[in-house]
Amino acid sequence: MSNDTTTSGLTFDIQPSSARRTPQERAALLESPGFGSVFTDHMVTIRYSEEKGWHDARLEAYAPLSLDPATSSLHYAQEIFEGLKAYHHPDGRVVCFRPEANAARFNRSAVRMAMPELPEDLFLKSIELIIEHDADWVPTKEGHSLYLRPFMISTDIGLGVNNPSRTYLYILIASPAASYFSGGVSPVSVWLSEDYTRAAPGGTGEAKFAGNYAASFRAQAQAVEKGCDQVVWLDASEHRWVEEMGGMNLFFVFGSGDDARVLTPALTGTLLPGVTRDSVLRLAPEMGVPAEEGRISVEEWRSAAASGDLTEVFACGTAAVITPVGRVASPHGEFVIGDGKAGPVTMRLREELVGIQYGERPDPFGWIRPMR
Ligand SMILES: *Cc1c(COP(=O)(O)O)cnc(C)c1O
Repeated sequence: MSNDTTTSGLTFDIQPSSARRTPQERAALLESPGFGSVFTDHMVTIRYSEEKGWHDARLEAYAPLSLDPATSSLHYAQEIFEGLKAYHHPDGRVVCFRPEANAARFNRSAVRMAMPELPEDLFLKSIELIIEHDADWVPTKEGHSLYLRPFMISTDIGLGVNNPSRTYLYILIASPAASYFSGGVSPVSVWLSEDYTRAAPGGTGEAKFAGNYAASFRAQAQAVEKGCDQVVWLDASEHRWVEEMGGMNLFFVFGSGDDARVLTPALTGTLLPGVTRDSVLRLAPEMGVPAEEGRISVEEWRSAAASGDLTEVFACGTAAVITPVGRVASPHGEFVIGDGKAGPVTMRLREELVGIQYGERPDPFGWIRPMR
C-alpha cells in the first residue's frame, strides 16, 4: 500500500468526482443501505485491447456507461464478475477478506469465457483506490460492510459471432451493504428444482459468469411460487446429486456435539468454488468439526433428516456469510431439518467467520488483508 498509483506498469489516472454526495446525503444513504442499491461516488475502469494489453486505468466519478448498441457483451454475454466485501475494523483499518482468492477466481472465470486475465495486483490496486477515495462510504455500523463488485465486459462493436471480442472493459463499483439478517439469523426454505438445471458438465457453472444468473431466474421464481425462499440445484444428468443453493454453496451437518461433522458437495466442475465454502472447510476442523467434500443425493438428504443423522444444513456465500436451511420441498413432498431452526454448529461457524471478518477474533489463517 502506498500512494504510488503505478501497478503492473500502469499508472492510474485519478479524477475525483466533482459531484460527491454531501456528508448529510451520505449519512442518510448509509442509515439503511439494503443490498446492492446504493453506490459510492467513484468507480475504477481499466481497458484492454490486443495491441495495448491493459491500459487507460482510471479512478473517476461513478457514472453511466455509453455503449454502442452493437457492443458484443450486449449480444453474446461475455461478462464475468466477482463479489467481496470491505470491513471497518475496530482499530480503524479497512480490510478485505481473502481478496487474492477473488482475484484468482476472476482470472479462472476469464479463461473459461475466452477473456483476458487481469494481473492480480491491478485487481487489488483497484480495490485499494476505491477504498481510499470512498473511505467515508465504508460503513461503521455493526454487521454492515462495503460490497465490492469487480466485473469485466467485452466491448468490440459488431455482431460477428465467430470470435471472442478483442477489447474489454474492467470496472469496479462499490456499494454499502446492510447486514443480510437485520432481524436475527432466520432459516430459509428451499425448493429442489427438477425442471431446471444451473450447470452441466463442460458448461460454465464453475465460472462467475453473468449468464449463469440469467439462466437461474426462472427456477428461482418457481421456488417462490412453491412457497420457498431459494432454489436448490441438482446435477444435470440424474437430477439426484445436490449441488448448490441459488448463489450459495451448501453444507450438511451430521451428528451433534463432539460427534458433529460437516460435508459439502465436491467441486465437480459444475459448482461455483465459493471463497466462503473454502473458508468453512478450513475453519471447521480447527473448531473440532471434521469437514469433508463428497456427494449427497436427494434421497439421502431426506432419509438422513428423517432418521436424525442429519442435524443441520446451511448455505454459505459472501453476501449472507452463513444461512441456515430449515425446510426442504420438492414435487415429492417436504421435510424439515432438525427442529427447523438455526442449529448450534451453523451458528458457531457463522460467529467465528464473521468475527474474523470484522476483526473481533484472531485471524490464524492470514485471511485479512488491510486495504487502507
Ligand atoms: C458467488 C457464488 C457463490 C459463493 O461464492 P463466495 O465466494 O463464497 O461468495 C456460490 N455459488 C454461486 C453460483 C455463486 O455465484
